[in-house]
Amino acid sequence: MKTAFSDLTPMMSQYLQIKRENPDSILFFRLGDFYEMFFDDAKIASGILGLTLTSREAGKGNRVPMCGIPFHAAENYIARLIRAGHKVAICEQVEDPRQARGIVRRDIVKIITPGTLAAGTVLNTPNNNFLLSVYGRSPGDYGLAYVDVSTGEFRATEIESSEKLISEIARLSPAETILSEDVRQEPGLLEKIRLSVNTMFTQVEEWNFEFSLSYETLTRHFVTKNLSGFGCENMKAAVAAAGAALRYLEQTQRCPLSHITRIAAYSLHGHMILDGTAQRNLELTRSQRNDWSHTLLSELDLTCSPMGRRLLVRWIQQPLLEVEAINKRLDAVEELRGDQVLRQDLAATLKETGDIERLLGRISLGVANARDLFALNQSLKLIPRLKQALRKTSVERLRQTAENLDCLEELTGLIDRAIHPNAPVSVREGGMINSGYHLELDDLRQITRGAKSWLADLQKKEIERTGISSLKIKYNRVFGYYIEVTKANLDLVPGDYIRKQTLVNSERFITPELKEQEEKILSAEEKIVTLEFRLFQEVRERVLGRLTVIQANADLIARTDVFNALAETAARNNYSRPQLLKDRTLQITEGRHPVVENLLGKSKFIPNDNQLDDSAHQVLIITGPNMAGKSTYIRQVALIVIMAQMGSFVPARLARIGVVDRIFTRVGAADDIAAGMSTFMMEMTETANILNNMTSRSLVILDEIGRGTSTFDGLSIAWAVAEYLSRRDGPCPRTLFATHYHELAELEKNFPGINNYNFAVREWNDDVVFLYKLIP
Ligand code: ATP
Repeated sequence: MKTAFSDLTPMMSQYLQIKRENPDSILFFRLGDFYEMFFDDAKIASGILGLTLTSREAGKGNRVPMCGIPFHAAENYIARLIRAGHKVAICEQVEDPRQARGIVRRDIVKIITPGTLAAGTVLNTPNNNFLLSVYGRSPGDYGLAYVDVSTGEFRATEIESSEKLISEIARLSPAETILSEDVRQEPGLLEKIRLSVNTMFTQVEEWNFEFSLSYETLTRHFVTKNLSGFGCENMKAAVAAAGAALRYLEQTQRCPLSHITRIAAYSLHGHMILDGTAQRNLELTRSQRNDWSHTLLSELDLTCSPMGRRLLVRWIQQPLLEVEAINKRLDAVEELRGDQVLRQDLAATLKETGDIERLLGRISLGVANARDLFALNQSLKLIPRLKQALRKTSVERLRQTAENLDCLEELTGLIDRAIHPNAPVSVREGGMINSGYHLELDDLRQITRGAKSWLADLQKKEIERTGISSLKIKYNRVFGYYIEVTKANLDLVPGDYIRKQTLVNSERFITPELKEQEEKILSAEEKIVTLEFRLFQEVRERVLGRLTVIQANADLIARTDVFNALAETAARNNYSRPQLLKDRTLQITEGRHPVVENLLGKSKFIPNDNQLDDSAHQVLIITGPNMAGKSTYIRQVALIVIMAQMGSFVPARLARIGVVDRIFTRVGAADDIAAGMSTFMMEMTETANILNNMTSRSLVILDEIGRGTSTFDGLSIAWAVAEYLSRRDGPCPRTLFATHYHELAELEKNFPGINNYNFAVREWNDDVVFLYKLIP
């Protein structure tokens, strides 16, 4: 920052020095009990936070804009600045002002950015908050890593096309993204990323993505010789991205990140691909109105813990491809579906469980207090109950969970003995440690208690000696303990009282005896606070010592929670177990739309069948008037497939699902003027994407094609697309094609895989009655 001032105050030159090192953050500069902001920071922040803009003397006769907030209320203000798209650098005094020679040393202790939110009210949803990092090895070849510093989740993968990269970014919906130079420069890519997610882009210097440096950063952090144990030893691009992410965290958090105990390599090949368009159109975790009501997530989310909810989101967004793995999940759901008592028992326990992952995050980042340790312990102490409940099951998955849950008795016993249930928020004022836990602490507390009763006795004694019945022994921070006598009684004050202060109505005195006792009390209290803090830190260290075990527990609890939620949903909504197949069947009998069915009321929803395969029933052309139920139907088929492959029961009487590798959707006539795309351009881009990327295992959902142009051009396009999809020498994906172009019905005659279906309506007394029944 340039300033025109020559004679800066020492504090202002210190400020400018620190600001220069952090030009892109709003600097919260600690002065006493306030964080102050200056110059442009003050102007920006006062606008966003509604603070009064004042000014402060910065040098000879020069005043600069300033605004400030009380330090204890900072979290709320920070949250608002972050939401407004800013970063905040917190600058604290880093030496004791009493020991400072000259101006107190100050330094940045943390930089808070959207993707590195760790704890507290700034992060007030159970949802993940990801920082994403992408390294481009060459166009179409990327390493991707993401990390949630609040929970410690850290994953990395490699991706072999820009289109899959964008899908994955859309799935993660990161709060903040860092991209290597190659990715930023790849023609069109940055624009596409911008279109698919709302994220803050942060630029870091390119050397951060350097492989050997990243490798070194990761192995140093995990204290391992190599990365084989994490499965990413040979994933050079992923390692480059992960190293950059971790270094960015280190730079912003500036404290140990010990709860990030592993990096999990993953592969997109193990999951169904649901790109941003599909996720939006099918309203998986966010509705078209961008909230979570009336989404698949809202229908399935009967989880009881934040960890369970985050895992459920991941399962919805990443359905599996392997029949055996899906069946293992379904076995667990089936077992719980059949045992209502067990389900309720588990739910009751899970409801009491706190957000173990986030608590660990706070503990590891050094922002936890005794209440957090207590809360963590309350959660850990539920594990024996979970274990016992799960042991009763007969499914291997659940019994294994029961085996693997670790009760950590030693640790829970320690926290029980050490941490007081009603500890204060602050860790610097004592009151955190139980009595009976530490001998020296008990002794010190005895001294202060003894001294306090001594004071009470003294007051009584002095009242008797002086005959002043209103005499009081009081305490304040400036004078310590003193004897207060009202003006009216001053003539009764004995000669050994030493006057300290005169007030309007009273005078304050001390005696040598009182001061001696004060010394004892204050030094004991100071010792107590220091000792309690040390004991608290020791317990905290013991928790960190069992970090990986606690994280494994959190994982198992999250899984149990999701299984239980899926079983509960299945029971409440009368879902049935799907059958997963390795061929390309897609047969659904009496299928329902999970969200619309609940919206309308169960008895009002008309179920429909579906039969698709790779030969005689490859493409269904579905016609019908407006409001007939076409869109609902084609989405319902897609949702049933997703539910089945994530391991959930499905809203159908029978479902036989040949595993789908990817669902493509093209829905409705929307434009994206912001992106410079007309309705027609959007629809053609999305359609081209489908035709270029579909495989024989894909499911294609088309709701209107060719509506963005004139009727005949539109019809020609729709016709050509339908033909192309059913071309025998092509991939022949299973396709549902809803259209208003009745002319497409002609296709059935010429293409063996194409079948016409229609949503039935009846005319009755001059009115149209929708039957919502799909008929050939
Ligand atoms: P358009 O061509 O205008 O887009 P559409 O044929 O796609 O219409 P939908 O949007 O699927 O029609 O359905 C319209 C409404 O009909 C839905 O909002 C829902 O309330 C009701 N509906 C759809 N399917 C069913 C069903 N199977 N049973 C009962 N009601 C249904």
